[in-house]
Amino acid sequence: MSTKQSSLLRFRLKRNLERLAAREGRGTELVSLYVPYGRQISEVVSMLNNEYGTATNIKSNTTKKNVQDAITRVTQRVKLFKKVPENGLVLFCGAIPQNGPGSERIELYVISPPEPIQVYLYRCDARFHTEHLQEFLKEKETYGIIVLDSAHASFATVRGKHLDIVKQITSGIPGKFRAGGQSAKRFVRQRQVKVQDYFKRVGEYANDIFLPIENLKSILLGGPGPTKEDFEKGNYLHYTLKEKIAATIDTAYTDEHGVEEVLEGSKDILQRIRYVEEKRIMQRFLREIGQDTGLATYGEDEVRKHLKNGIVDTILLSETINLIRAIVKCGSCDYTKNQTMKMHQVTEFEQKTHGSTCPKCNVPALSVTDRHELIDELAEIAEVAGTKVEILSGDTEEGQMLKKSFGGVAALLRYKAAN
Ligand SMILES: [Zn+2]
Repeated sequence: MSTKQSSLLRFRLKRNLERLAAREGRGTELVSLYVPYGRQISEVVSMLNNEYGTATNIKSNTTKKNVQDAITRVTQRVKLFKKVPENGLVLFCGAIPQNGPGSERIELYVISPPEPIQVYLYRCDARFHTEHLQEFLKEKETYGIIVLDSAHASFATVRGKHLDIVKQITSGIPGKFRAGGQSAKRFVRQRQVKVQDYFKRVGEYANDIFLPIENLKSILLGGPGPTKEDFEKGNYLHYTLKEKIAATIDTAYTDEHGVEEVLEGSKDILQRIRYVEEKRIMQRFLREIGQDTGLATYGEDEVRKHLKNGIVDTILLSETINLIRAIVKCGSCDYTKNQTMKMHQVTEFEQKTHGSTCPKCNVPALSVTDRHELIDELAEIAEVAGTKVEILSGDTEEGQMLKKSFGGVAALLRYKAAN
């Protein structure tokens, strides 16, 4: 799997799972099948044949027919594979009521898992069993950040795209310079004791915050000057946390800006975290727009035009735009048109369009023949054109900016468009 397209794969899996979760059968007649890599296709087929046989015992004739139809469809599909793909094979199939009772239609879904599945499972139930794929949508790794100097300390966690400043404390340690009349030795000693107490407190907070986190990947230590190194050398952190310190990074601040500086400074380590990626890609986009270089553009129509001309390097799409692209066709001539609209406007648009007069041949034969999510539609054109696709979440400031200020659709261009 190309990591560059992984945000698109994740988006597609998420949408597929949402759709599947919304499907319900009439009775216990929806088939879920998970086959991990390494299983033989023949083994799976013989298991399905067994299940087909078992289904003859189902009392309700409709249910029996639906289950057997589903198993037949799944078996046919499985047989098309010579071997189970590396990440495994996941199929969902069943009779889904389309429009009230009696309107069931067999629907079949083949899912490519983004990571290898381990489970071998056949289920026939009133719902599709998607929970073994839901796992892949979770951001599993969390990073801990401690930023400190001798006056302040901040504790933060980064999980996927989500940055959380958990705690900020002050040390109460006086500055390095003593007041007049005080003994120099005594001042230094007193200060050392206070620094030790402060480091102990920082360690205790860090243990309380980070030890309970499952899947804590590593800890990043930041701050101005040598305080962070002094803290690291001492045994103030629980040894399991101390082992997880992946980097120490110099920062100018110890507040939330310091945390941001650590994130920026640790790009190598955090490269795989979307938080940084989303920020970086949007910042590049904003720079191109701000400097009017002609290498960035936004808005559905503009982006679509450049996409079709093949000059888009990366297309940026906001996960939260919720736009639908409907295809209208005439049943009497070759007239066709596409229109983008909000998700909730689709039904009304379909009703209004149905049987309306074609502007080309004047026959009242227009209808909506197909509809796609705008993201899917643009992503498909992008894949053909060799354009990178980045789906930005609504979780980061940058992702929200893409939606609010640029309509959720933007592009970085390979070169300046000729006007
Ligand atoms: Zn027509």
